[in-house]
Amino acid sequence: MLTVKNMTNVKGKRVIVRVDFNVPLKDGTIRDDNRIVAALETIKDLLKKEARVILLSHLGKIKHKETPEVIEAQKKKNDLTPIAVRLSELLNMPVKFSPDTRGANLAALVEGLQDGEVLLVQNTRYEKGEEKNDPELALEWASLADAFVMDAFGSAHRAHASTYGIPAILKEEGKPVAIGYLVEKEVENLSRCVEVNEKDRPYIAILGGFKISDKIKVIQSLLGKCDKILIGGAMAYTFQKALGHNVGISPVEDDQLEYARKCLLTANGKIVLPIDSVTTDEFDPSKRKSIITTETQSIPENMEGMDIGPKTQALFTKEIKKAKMVFWNGPMGVFEQPEFTKGTIAVCKAIADLKGAFTVCGGGDSAAAIKQFGFSEDFSHVSTGGGASLEMIENDGHLPGIDIIRK
Ligand code: ADP
Ligand code: MG
Repeated sequence: MLTVKNMTNVKGKRVIVRVDFNVPLKDGTIRDDNRIVAALETIKDLLKKEARVILLSHLGKIKHKETPEVIEAQKKKNDLTPIAVRLSELLNMPVKFSPDTRGANLAALVEGLQDGEVLLVQNTRYEKGEEKNDPELALEWASLADAFVMDAFGSAHRAHASTYGIPAILKEEGKPVAIGYLVEKEVENLSRCVEVNEKDRPYIAILGGFKISDKIKVIQSLLGKCDKILIGGAMAYTFQKALGHNVGISPVEDDQLEYARKCLLTANGKIVLPIDSVTTDEFDPSKRKSIITTETQSIPENMEGMDIGPKTQALFTKEIKKAKMVFWNGPMGVFEQPEFTKGTIAVCKAIADLKGAFTVCGGGDSAAAIKQFGFSEDFSHVSTGGGASLEMIENDGHLPGIDIIRK
């Protein structure tokens, strides 16, 4: 795969860079500019090489089936203008901005770009054809560029016009297509969790979070690769119920019971489930009367499991201690509530204490938890792509937006 690092002769060339500027916004204010910062290395590299840089990104959701008024409101909410301003601050240079996502005005702005200048185009999702990978839209965008760089890892699992359509056309035309620094790092680290080297064993996966149904494919894939899978979070209760245990009012996906049973029967003992749980009578803290720790096999009728208990923390820590490689997705409990952070923190700590192991976290909420609890520096890699990192594991290292770049 060509990387931006190895891209030469781009002086004066128009290079479209698909970045991920899908930052959290509140009333037009950026709450966390991590994603903009993460794209700087690629942008600066191209500017240093005197390319004419055209940035494309989506932001939020725009439902084109809604009424014109609703669409207008969604567009207003997901306007990239504040991001252009922040980018200009971070680059310490002017950033041109195209309010139009296609047409003559955009073409003129591209035409006017000088070597070493940067243009950010308004939210790609303003275009109805973006998410459908509309060929006409992709062709119009591709016609603006001499080369393409994919650096939006968080969007690489989607074959949209800006992530897939453009590079497909440029590649066909024999023009250079490459991955940026951020995608390169993601591919390098996540591939190691997919094509497992013997020296990385024991390989331990830790899975949690809310729904089994979201993660069936990842469980299946990891069962084939890992030596142990530790399961916490809400999804553990579906496994417990499949074993015939009383889980009280804990969240259970009844339509996944059969799948959970099959998993357990074919896992050859690789799956490790919680042995105790922190439970409550009420999810909503304002209506809550009690919190108790019980054996997971016998949660009282009126109680709901919210976190793994201390015995499970110790059990999981003991397993994690043996690991040479760890892949973690999904919090161990409702870490958004202070009473139920301990399980997730214990897993963070066990991973942080590992010496010389390769440790990776993928998943939006898991990455947020790591950051919140101050463990960001203790992982070998925390993926920037929530869904994309999981799909990368599921699909044995393949994602449409990256595969299209491969030779
Ligand atoms: P990720 O984004 O890392 O892939 P998920 O989106 O699958 O993770 O799951 C995160 C959510 O799971 C969090 O909002 C957390 O509160 C929730 N969760 C974890 N354990 C429980 C539980 N026992 N009951 C209810 N929700 C839970
Ligand atoms: Mg999530």
